[in-house]
Amino acid sequence: MTPVTDTTLFPAVPDSADAVLDGLDPEQRAVATALHGPVCVLAGAGTGKTRAITHRIAYGVRAGMLQPASVLAVTFTNRAAGEMRGRLRQLGAAGVQARTFHSAALRQLQYFWPRVVGGELPRLAERKIQLVSEAAVRTRIRLDRNELRDVTGEIEWAKVTQTVPEDYPAAAAKAGREVPRDPAEIAGIYGAYEQLKRERGSIDFEDVLLLTVGVLQDRPDIADQVRGQYQHFVVDEYQDVSPLQQRLLELWLGGRDSLCVVGDASQTIYSFTGATPDHLLNFRTRHPHATVVKLIRDYRSTPQVVHLANGLLGQARGRAAEHRLELVSQRDAGPEPEYSEYTDEPAEAEGTARSIRGLLDAGIPASEIAVLYRVNAQSEVYEQALADHGVPYQMRGAERFFERPEVREAGVALRGAARAGGNDALLDDAVGLASQVRAVLTARGWTSEPPTGSGAVRDRWESLAALVRLAEQFATARTEAGAPAPTLADLVAELDERANAQHAPTVEGVTLASLHSAKGLEWDAVFLVGLTEGTLPITYARTDEQIEEERRLLYVGVTRARVRLALSWALSRAPGGRASRKPSRFLSGLRPGSPAAAGRTPGGAGGIERGSAARKRRGPVRCRVCGRTLTDAGEMKLMRCESCPSDLDEVLYERLREWRMEEARTLGQPAYCVFTDKTLMAIAEAVPDSESALASIAGVGRRKLDRFGADVLALCAGEELARETAEDGPEEAAEQAPDLPADD
Ligand code: ATP
Ligand code: MG
Repeated sequence: MTPVTDTTLFPAVPDSADAVLDGLDPEQRAVATALHGPVCVLAGAGTGKTRAITHRIAYGVRAGMLQPASVLAVTFTNRAAGEMRGRLRQLGAAGVQARTFHSAALRQLQYFWPRVVGGELPRLAERKIQLVSEAAVRTRIRLDRNELRDVTGEIEWAKVTQTVPEDYPAAAAKAGREVPRDPAEIAGIYGAYEQLKRERGSIDFEDVLLLTVGVLQDRPDIADQVRGQYQHFVVDEYQDVSPLQQRLLELWLGGRDSLCVVGDASQTIYSFTGATPDHLLNFRTRHPHATVVKLIRDYRSTPQVVHLANGLLGQARGRAAEHRLELVSQRDAGPEPEYSEYTDEPAEAEGTARSIRGLLDAGIPASEIAVLYRVNAQSEVYEQALADHGVPYQMRGAERFFERPEVREAGVALRGAARAGGNDALLDDAVGLASQVRAVLTARGWTSEPPTGSGAVRDRWESLAALVRLAEQFATARTEAGAPAPTLADLVAELDERANAQHAPTVEGVTLASLHSAKGLEWDAVFLVGLTEGTLPITYARTDEQIEEERRLLYVGVTRARVRLALSWALSRAPGGRASRKPSRFLSGLRPGSPAAAGRTPGGAGGIERGSAARKRRGPVRCRVCGRTLTDAGEMKLMRCESCPSDLDEVLYERLREWRMEEARTLGQPAYCVFTDKTLMAIAEAVPDSESALASIAGVGRRKLDRFGADVLALCAGEELARETAEDGPEEAAEQAPDLPADD
């Protein structure tokens, strides 16, 4: 396998301030060059808001008008902050702080805590829900799971609106909150929760902002010091700013007006936590001299995707919707969005995984594909299905790459090797540097083949594999640019610089993410799954405002796609279940064949796709030990309840695992891409003696049957496999992968 050269990772730095403005349209340019006074950008998804503000900072820095260290750029997620640091660095403006409100506050708090309070900052409590549950027990109130989630949400809301427990009932009534329990009870739990935290010497996420606000309010000396450091502020995704974050921003500004905010009211998706687009929409009122810029050209998505996005917005109601802007795509036409209806969730996941496999086979990189869902619990069935189709995926954001312990350890090892001189003879091409990195990592226990299973061990392996890839890309980009081949010391310097800029390499794999966490990001192909009533809108969205927020969530999802967009839903949860579910109301009038669709849907959209999995009505999957109907994806795969006794053939299972390890090694893929643990277990329990028996096991599709069927059946029959010893490295082996010879 030749190393992938992603020159976008190493583009040329613009050679002047003016060159930074190249590639911006006139309105974006107006944003980038408005370096004085307040600036507000109101614009729809994909119109280049984030691009405009990163270029604005870079332009200001390169033109000598902004001191890098005096700029604080605030974005919404760690991942977005990492992305922004990366972009700034590419534009030649390293040294600018790009952080989330939370991490910027935490940093200041840690710095000033010894002076203000003394000692170390209390540690951050990790499991808030657990603490709230303990607080409920302490106040003798029983909460079910949903109530626990909702009460936790209420406590968060109270804190970001700076409401103390005693004031909660009145404040909740005034704000028209739909409360999950008697407000007095919630106030009691909230009080007990705060007390519990104090007793344990911990603080929560909201405390970080509250305490920072407190320090800046009470200590003018410290506020002055912070203001002396930061003079210019930029806020991305400003529509989702909470009252507490807004307060912090005002304290940072201290009456000054070098503030640039950008946002899209139609993408407000955190108002359930107390965030409000009002600050964005009222910016002009608060800052009458502000430069206000609107962007409508959508550079991200094809006209087909944009048409659907506009259609969704057209049905939106409420204040945010009054400010909607019709998007105009700047891209060439692409495929129509695809709509698929399935009988059940596993069939939907299976259909999605199959389509993704097709895209990968057509050459679309895995990192350019995402599956987005409403709640994290939906991920499991997709993890299984992707694994069954041999598709690598990643659930973890790449934002904290350089903070991962394994990456830090690897950095130390590489630095040591670089100091020791490295082996210059190997450094004549891209593979040379990568081999050196491999050698260093191997000496520390890294293997070139992925470990079996998932979880922490696999995550660790993935991180180090990403580091090796980064070395390959770095060397290739350097040599292609005509520079001498880089040494290990050059790579270490590059890694340091990236670690400082928090610009993580992309972990290769399809992204599985919630709609909330997909904000601000984009992929070539996006699969929006589970689009049924009850999931989107989610069951607990009841008021009109809550429903509108769910609609905006779908709008955020749709606008993540550059070219391909697939939307799907399943009529029942488990195979054989009653087809009681309905497609999301938000798609009415937009998807072909839906009630109000006449004349609205894009021409050529040929109705709803119903894959073979959809037409084939499958019976319920029952436990083969006790006969209970199974609904859990993992149990369905095993074809028995987890708790029912297993008739696993241990020897066969071990042999299958060994075989899988070899196979994965040959393919240069993670072991779960061959078969998941659950599928192997099901095989070792069923011991199939024919192709059809093997095919009836969940996770053994046509493709796997063709590739691995003969091997697996031979193993089940107790035969030995005559394997060629795979002496060749993963690169060569992977090239042989597409037409694997039958080994027996
Ligand atoms: P969101 O609302 O989703 O956060 P956004 O408005 O911040 O979107 P960006 O992420 O900045 O949009 O840009 C969307 C895509 O369009 C990016 O790939 C960006 O590089 C590209 N883009 C933006 N402006 C231009 C331009 N003037 N020329 C070419 N490409 C552009
Ligand atoms: Mg953006």
